[in-house]
Amino acid sequence: MTMQHLLSIEDLDRAGIERIVEQAARFAEVSDREIKKVPALRGRMVLNLFYEASTRTRSSFELAAKRLSADVVNFAASGSSVEKGESLKDTVLTLSAHKPDAIVLRTPWAGAAELVSKWCSAAIVNAGDGKREHPTQALLDVYTLRSRLGELDGASIWIIGDVAHSRVARSNIIAFQRMGAKVTVAGPPTLIPRGIEALGCDVRFTLDELPSADVVYTLRMQRERMSETWVPSLREYASWYQVNGKRLSPRQVLMHPGPVNRGVELSGEVVDSPQAVITAQVEAGVVVRMAVLYELLAGASAPSTSPSSGRPEAAGAAIGERQPA
Ligand code: ASP
Repeated sequence: MTMQHLLSIEDLDRAGIERIVEQAARFAEVSDREIKKVPALRGRMVLNLFYEASTRTRSSFELAAKRLSADVVNFAASGSSVEKGESLKDTVLTLSAHKPDAIVLRTPWAGAAELVSKWCSAAIVNAGDGKREHPTQALLDVYTLRSRLGELDGASIWIIGDVAHSRVARSNIIAFQRMGAKVTVAGPPTLIPRGIEALGCDVRFTLDELPSADVVYTLRMQRERMSETWVPSLREYASWYQVNGKRLSPRQVLMHPGPVNRGVELSGEVVDSPQAVITAQVEAGVVVRMAVLYELLAGASAPSTSPSSGRPEAAGAAIGERQPA
């Protein structure tokens, strides 16, 4: 069964997450080729619709679509008619006239991806909706950890920092647990949402037990989503919660979704240490997003002339087919 949209990580059970990361692993081979392209989504159109800043997510969705031979239109709200007052709905309806097969959407508004999925016929990928969800980040983090640790079953993963305003935290708590990991969230009480234990994770307000973690996942202070002051000062926050050489043990894997604020949630030395897999996470972003676009678009009725390329299980065949230079 193929997905219609990827709005939330909750759309995927463990088997669904495994299917996507395994497909991503097959696509990793494409990224190592001299010509990094397969014809799997030739003739398809992917629209990147970004209302918020993005470095990694937007560039990796663009690359992912291009490596699958789809056409890509990048739309950033700044510099567009959004600045002249056009609403999200009117913008989506206007751009739908170009008949995108998929819309990759990032907005500051929780739930926007669901709304857009009702306004047009394209497959919608939530690339971050306010502080709610960032499902492709969770998938690429599962992919990265599987490459490092093998299965996640029984692994202890600590997510540290501004959990309250982080869409990555929410999606990752769900995804890591679905893959069998034990998740602990840690940070100052003001940045840990009350009742978060309902998601199945443990909560700690200090890093005293951090040595028990196999994976240390750090978060940026989401200042763009804060209307008031949540910590006395960044210096004080860093003194209690910064992951640095003293707090990180050599056996632990260090992750961060980026962008990193060096000297706040992480010290420069650990960012540059071999334990940090931050660059591997960015690399994983391309192949995982290829797998997501492939799953959403190759399964639907395709304009492709190849009788086999419409089926997800035909991925190997599609990958194997080389594109002329
Ligand atoms: N890049 C991630 C996001 O868009 C994390 C962050 O911005 O801190 O949510």
